[in-house]
Amino acid sequence: MNTIQSINKNRLISLFSHLVSIDSPSLGERNMCDEIIRRLEALAIPWEEDNTGEKIDGNAGNLYAYIEGTLNLPPLLFSAHMDTVEPSSGKKAVIASDGKITSAGNTVLGADDLSGVAAILEAITVLKESGLPHRPIELLFDVSEETYCTGIGQFDFSRLHSKEVYVLDLTGSIGSAAFQAPSILSFRAAFQGRSAHAGFSPEKGIHAIQAAARAVTLIECGHIDNTTVNIGTIQGGTADNIVPESCILTGEIRSFSDEAARSRLTLIQNIIEQSAEEAGAAVHFESQTLCLAYCTEQSQPVVERFVNTCTKLGLTPHLQQTYGGSDNNHFVHHGLQGLVIASGMNHCHSCQEYTNVNDLESAAKLTLALMLSKE
Ligand SMILES: [Zn+2]
Repeated sequence: MNTIQSINKNRLISLFSHLVSIDSPSLGERNMCDEIIRRLEALAIPWEEDNTGEKIDGNAGNLYAYIEGTLNLPPLLFSAHMDTVEPSSGKKAVIASDGKITSAGNTVLGADDLSGVAAILEAITVLKESGLPHRPIELLFDVSEETYCTGIGQFDFSRLHSKEVYVLDLTGSIGSAAFQAPSILSFRAAFQGRSAHAGFSPEKGIHAIQAAARAVTLIECGHIDNTTVNIGTIQGGTADNIVPESCILTGEIRSFSDEAARSRLTLIQNIIEQSAEEAGAAVHFESQTLCLAYCTEQSQPVVERFVNTCTKLGLTPHLQQTYGGSDNNHFVHHGLQGLVIASGMNHCHSCQEYTNVNDLESAAKLTLALMLSKE
C-alpha cells in the first residue's frame, strides 16, 4: 500500500472540524480529552490519564497512550497539546472553496494545536486499519501548554519508553521543524514607596511609579545579541491626588543561551534595585524559569529521520530556531531528543488564525510516514 494514499483526506478534515467545535481552553480540556479517549478506544489503543488536572486546578489530565509495534525498533513519541488560547468559546471551522480554513472571525481557530491532534489521530487510524508494519508508538496529548507548559510540567516522564519525540506544534510550511528554542525567564518587581496627598504634602511621599519608570528607561528592550528582553506590564497608583505607594513591573527574557538569559536577568535586577534605591523606595524582585533552552543536534537520528521522511514525501525540510517555548523544552530536559514540527497553523493566537486542507493532509501524511519509518 502506498502510505501517501492511505491518509483519508475527507475523514481528516471532518475530524479537524469536529475537534475545533469542542471548547478546550487551558484548564478546561475535559471534553477534548474525552473525545480523544473515545477515538483511542475505538481503535483498541490503551490509554491513561494522569492527575495533572487536580494538581493545576483544571478538569483534565495529560493523556498518554501506547501502541504496540509490529516492527522490532525503538519507539517514537508523538505529542500535541489539547488546549487552545482565548477567545475560543464556540469556535468553528469555516472551510472556503480554495481549501483555506478559518474561524468565524470572533474566536481563534484552534489549529494550534488541533492540527497536531488531528494529524496524530488520523495517522494512528491508518496504522490500525492498514495493518502496515510500524514501530512502537507513544502518544502524549497534554493539557495547559498555552500557560507556559504547566500541564506537561506535571507529567511523569519516567513512564516514557521513547528516546525521541516529535512535537506537532509549529507554524510554517509542512516540513518546517524547530531544533532550538530559548530559555524563557519571567520577572516581577514590586516597588514600594509611600503614599501622600499630592496637593497638601507631596514631599512626604515616595513615588513608586517614578521609581519603576526610572528602571524602565534604563532596561534595554528588544533584541540584544541572541537574547530578547521585554517589559510587558506596569501597574501602579490609585488616584490622581495621591503619590503612588506601589508599582508593579513585569517582563520576560528569552535566550538560546541559558547562561546569557540568567546574566541578563541579574543585570535587570541590579537596574531595578538601584532605581528603587535612588528614589528611596523598596523593591521586591522575583523571577521564574518558564522554559529551559535546548538545541537538538542536526546529526541526531530524530532530525535525520525527519529530513529523510520529508524528502521522500516531496516536502522541503526546513530546520530552524524558534523564539517560542513548547513542550519540547520539557522533553529535551528529560533526556529525549526532540523536534517541534509544523502541523498546519498560521497567525496563531489571533482571530485571524487559519490553516488549509492541503497542509492538514501533508501533516498527517508526514506523521504517518514517521511512524512507519524503518530507519
Ligand atoms: Zn501550540
